[in-house]
Amino acid sequence: METSKLKQELVKLLGKDKVLTEDLDLMYYSYDSSFLTKLEPSQPNAVVFPKSTEDVQKVVEFAYANQINIVPRGAGTGETGGCIAVQGGIVLDLSTWNEIIEIDVKNMQVIVSPGVIHAELNNELAKHNLFFPPDPGSSMMCTVGGMVANNASGLRAVKYWATEPYILGLEVVMPNGDVIITGGMKARCIKNVSGINLTKLMVGSEGILGVVTRIRLRCFPKPKARGIAMAVFDNLDDAPEAVMDVYQAGILPSGIEILDSSAIKAVNDFKPEIKLPDAEAILLFEVDGNPPSVEYEGQVIREVTGQRARSVEWATEPKRMAELWEGRSVTAAASARVRPDGSRIFAGEDISVPISRVADTLRALRDLADQHGIQIVNYGHIGDGNVHTAPVINPEIPEEVEKVIKFVDEVHLLAIEMNGSTTGEHGVGAVRRPYAELEHGKAVEYMRKIKAAFDPAGIMNPGKVF
Ligand SMILES: Cc1cc2nc3c(=O)[nH]c(=O)nc-3n(C[C@H](O)[C@H](O)[C@H](O)COP(=O)(O)OP(=O)(O)OC[C@H]3O[C@@H](n4cnc5c(N)ncnc54)[C@H](O)[C@@H]3O)c2cc1C
Repeated sequence: METSKLKQELVKLLGKDKVLTEDLDLMYYSYDSSFLTKLEPSQPNAVVFPKSTEDVQKVVEFAYANQINIVPRGAGTGETGGCIAVQGGIVLDLSTWNEIIEIDVKNMQVIVSPGVIHAELNNELAKHNLFFPPDPGSSMMCTVGGMVANNASGLRAVKYWATEPYILGLEVVMPNGDVIITGGMKARCIKNVSGINLTKLMVGSEGILGVVTRIRLRCFPKPKARGIAMAVFDNLDDAPEAVMDVYQAGILPSGIEILDSSAIKAVNDFKPEIKLPDAEAILLFEVDGNPPSVEYEGQVIREVTGQRARSVEWATEPKRMAELWEGRSVTAAASARVRPDGSRIFAGEDISVPISRVADTLRALRDLADQHGIQIVNYGHIGDGNVHTAPVINPEIPEEVEKVIKFVDEVHLLAIEMNGSTTGEHGVGAVRRPYAELEHGKAVEYMRKIKAAFDPAGIMNPGKVF
């Protein structure tokens, strides 16, 4: 359909304030946070701003009748091109539809529209001593709808896992315009094993099965206390061993982070006053709960990791905890500065491997980087084996781009070889779909069948996942 006609039709459906079709406006929607979209931006034909289920439904019904692609979008912080109209179409920007509809304190749940920002939701929940535990690094920017679509998680996934277990029910506009409610039409219960679990199927489906328009989320009581341990290792292999020792001692910290020597150096160059000890690896353990349990767990972590670490420090005092954590919190920014003429790219940034293979993986990543002449910084959520690699290149130099593309391909293959996954939390999107068959084999056929059953016209976010 011609742009002017498309605009006319969309304005008829939603009104002119909710429709964009000018080139300059659309250009912004050619990108998310992935390196792929910096290399190959794809402009949609139109962008709309739905503010209700009816708005979404009208646009989807129109798109279905006219065989036009639909691409849901939250805040665009995804690192895989997931919210980009790689085959053209209408982008549904849901970020302005950001209503906390109801905090049901008695039933430990909250109902939100898809555009609510994660951190803002938790600020509101904190007033009721509740929280929604998954904690992506993009918390201040990303939408809850985007988190549901990507099954987002963060450093506290060790104890609290990802978004999926907290989703009690969803309202979804299906690719033909039908509206369904998963998890029970009228349900306010937490426990529910009735029917095929469509909620679970929708979470992590990256916007290819329907548009999430309402989310019923489970909340947890907000922990009262927190403690941080920093353990410093001269031998890289001792770091994952220490993580397993802690688990064997019966302790499940809320987060366990690793900085390898490349990250330690990057942080010290970036902010020398942090003075991270020079070492092969640093582990940061975060423990939360009630004050006596936090003290006990901290004590055990100190004893257990002390058997392998050069030094261990434990803190519960807020100022000291912040100091211990600062190295980790600036790692991403520090990575971007390791080369004055370079920038950190988001590609191959999210592999996941068994904890027992983290040290081998970090070594293999360094070898690969050396082979390709790429500078990298490695850190990540070692508590669940999620390794974040930051390649730093000058994207203006075509040879460097060519080298990094090869490097990233080998990083993804390495993850599978290590009995891991190409993505621990950021998703597949357009970037990692070439690895679907290798990672999942025949299961991909069944994923395609599910997609075809939900979206026979193939208009819902095509070109993603497989
Ligand atoms: C600095 C930084 C740090 C990050 N840290 C983390 C991290 O620690 N953990 C982590 O998991 N991720 C992280 N991410 C990635 C990203 O923030 C998450 O995947 C986040 O959940 C995406 O949310 P969004 O609102 O930006 O979604 P978008 O990027 O806009 O969209 C992501 C996907 O969700 C789909 N989608 C969005 N809304 C809907 C909807 N309502 N219905 C159906 N589909 C929808 C889109 O089509 C797309 O496929 C980080 C990103 C950045 C830039």
